Parts: sequence; C-alpha cells; structure tokens
Amino acid sequence: LCEESTAALQNSQVVFISKLTADHMVELDNTTLYDAPEIPMDTCRSDVVISIEQVQKMLQRGFLWAGRAAANGGHCHVNWSRVCRPIELGGLGVRDLKRDGLALRLRWLWFSRTDPERAWQGLDLQFSPTERALFWASTFTILGNGLSALLWEDRWIGGRSVRELMPNLYGCIPKRRRTTRTVADGLNGNSWARDIQGNLGLHEIGQYLQLWQIMQRTELSTAPDKLIWRWTASGSYSAQSCYTATFHGATACHSWKLIWKCWAPPRVKFFHWLANQDRCWTAERLARHGLQHHPRCLLCDQQPETVRHLMLECPLTRQAWHETLAWLRIPAPIPSQEPSLTDWWRQANEDTPPTLRKALKSVALLVPWMVWKHRNSCVFDNAMPSLNTLLDSIRDEARSWAAAAAPGLRLVLPQTWDVH
Ligand SMILES: [Zn+2]
Repeated sequence: LCEESTAALQNSQVVFISKLTADHMVELDNTTLYDAPEIPMDTCRSDVVISIEQVQKMLQRGFLWAGRAAANGGHCHVNWSRVCRPIELGGLGVRDLKRDGLALRLRWLWFSRTDPERAWQGLDLQFSPTERALFWASTFTILGNGLSALLWEDRWIGGRSVRELMPNLYGCIPKRRRTTRTVADGLNGNSWARDIQGNLGLHEIGQYLQLWQIMQRTELSTAPDKLIWRWTASGSYSAQSCYTATFHGATACHSWKLIWKCWAPPRVKFFHWLANQDRCWTAERLARHGLQHHPRCLLCDQQPETVRHLMLECPLTRQAWHETLAWLRIPAPIPSQEPSLTDWWRQANEDTPPTLRKALKSVALLVPWMVWKHRNSCVFDNAMPSLNTLLDSIRDEARSWAAAAAPGLRLVLPQTWDVH
C-alpha cells in the first residue's frame, strides 16, 4: 500500500495542504505521505488540493475493492463510512482518519487540563465546537480544592455542568469568564455572582437562585480536583477509547460474533460480511441493478435467487445442512424459517453442547460458502447442480480447515483412513 500510495501521489500530482493539523498527525499506515521525496512538487498543479484524509480514503478504498490504487463507484459494494466502523458495529474496523484526528485533538485538551508540565501549557490552543462538545460529553469533574475545576464549563455538579442544568443563566456569562473562573475562585466572596451580565429575565433569576443554593452547599477539600474520563475504567484519557466513543450510540451488528469470532479463512469471513448486508451478486441483486441474470435459483429452479434462499431455504442447501450436521454429529436443527443465518446460529448455538459450539460456528460459515461456490460454478462453468458434488466439496474443505487450524472442526471431524 505504501508503494501504491507513493505512486498514486506521483501520478495524480497532488499538492497537500501545507498546514498539517493534528487531525492528520496520526500513525498513517502510509508514512510515505510525509517523506515522499519523489513527489515532483514543482510540476504539481496547484489547483488540485486534497487532504490526506481523502487520499487515505481513496487508496484504502481502491485497495479493498479493486486491488489497486483507485476504485470507482461500481467496485464498492459497501459504503466507505460503514467499512470504517468497528467490526462490532458491522464494519471492517478500518481506521477512520477523521475520527482518529478528533481523538488526538482531544488528547491536547485533556493534557491541557491535567498535566501542567507540558511545554505548550498556557498557549491559546484553539479547538472547534465539535471537539469541545465531545470533550465535555466524555469527562466530568470530582471536586476537591476547586482550584482547577472551571465553574461555568466543567461538569462538577454531580457530573453535570452549569451549562446543562442552567442554560439561560450560562448564556449571561461572558466568554472570557467561562474559561477562567474556577470553583474556588467563584466561592471566594461569592464572586461568581459578579460574572453574570446583561438583563435577567424570570428564567435567569430562577436559575440564579438554583445555583446560589448549590454554591451554598458546596464544600471544598484539600485534595486536588480530579478530571475523569468516562470511557476508560481508570478514568484517564486514551486515544483508543476516545476513537471508540465517537461511535457511541451507533446501531450494533448482531452477526459480528459469528463472522469474526470464529475460525474460517479470511475470504470466507469477508464473503459472510458482504452476504449479511445483502451485497452478493445474486440474481435478485443483479435484477435490481438492471444487469443480466437468470430468472430463478439455479440449484433448485423453483424460487428467486436471494442470499437468504441460497443460504437457508434452497432444498439443495437444506439437504447439505442436514448431511453435514449429521456427518459431524452436531445435534443442531437445520435452518427453517429463520430470517437470517445469524438468527439460526444463535438458536442452534443454544441447542448445542458447549464443546461443539466452535465447530458449529465454523460449519455455519462453511456450508453457505460452499453452496455459494457451487452456485458460482453452475453460473460461470455450466456445472450441473449436484448434492453429492456439494457434499464432497464441503467434506474436503472441512478437512482442510481442520488441518489448517480450525480447533472446533478438528474435534468433531470423523476419523477416517480414507485418504484421497
Ligand atoms: Zn434454490
């Protein structure tokens, strides 16, 4: 990828934005971007200005979908932002440079509040509203001596801030006061009340009285204030936890454990990742895109060919499931009316003794994969659909997986002297 990135940079004569912000100072897998001396800068067209983030996206996308430096829209089966999600959320876990940059910017904010020894302490660091919002959402303060907790900004009132509890009153505080007034400072002679400016309405006065009561109850101790990072057990910032936090609230993907927490060759996992999102070129999908396709499933000639039909419903597939589970002596029911492979696996997993569960997972990926390959040989090589051929290929493949590393399959594979 590094070589390709350098080549792509030379070919496209890209000029990088000269002001590299911390957004971009992450461990790029293509460090060549920084020290690519071969780029003929004098011949660069100055009107082509793209960011490293875009270059990274372009190269990684091309690498993933087309195996070369760039891919066009037709190659890409899955939206790139989905690819960049963690695998638990249905993506491939490719690092998203934008979110990485955000996480590292917050590192500066964190150290500016927790480590007075930093050389850049006291400088006027600029942060965007998004960065500040994420920082506030990720931290809260345990009040000690009140010398570092900001009265107007920090979340020191039982984990909430004045901004959240009394938004109208917060609006009456000038910006420079918000960023300088500490709790200890504010309590000293009730000087916090002098920060409030402008005309106060009914709401503001109500919230002022509310804050007054809180301030009266506030007691300081001798211990220093403690800023707590919400996303780690230790309460300290980590870039990884911050990166993960940017996905907070995203919809979870239920099939990731089946696909990724199991022994199978990577290409089989990738196939299942695509199939789970209905991104395989079945006849039904080809029809949707107006492409040439066969009218019905080639394996049974009865139903329209969808991913679900091929994996679970097709009579040939059901027979393959039955024979394979019987051959391996796994006491799980074969798929019937389940909406997806994952739904079947979750149910079957409960009906299977714990010692056989690893094998069940591998089989759950193996059978649909071999059915798909059999279907492909029918479509592209004019092979005839045959249960025996399919079963033979499943058995061969299972033996290969067991010989390679699959621990679950090795346990259940029938011992035989039949050497091919
Ligand atoms: Zn069929």
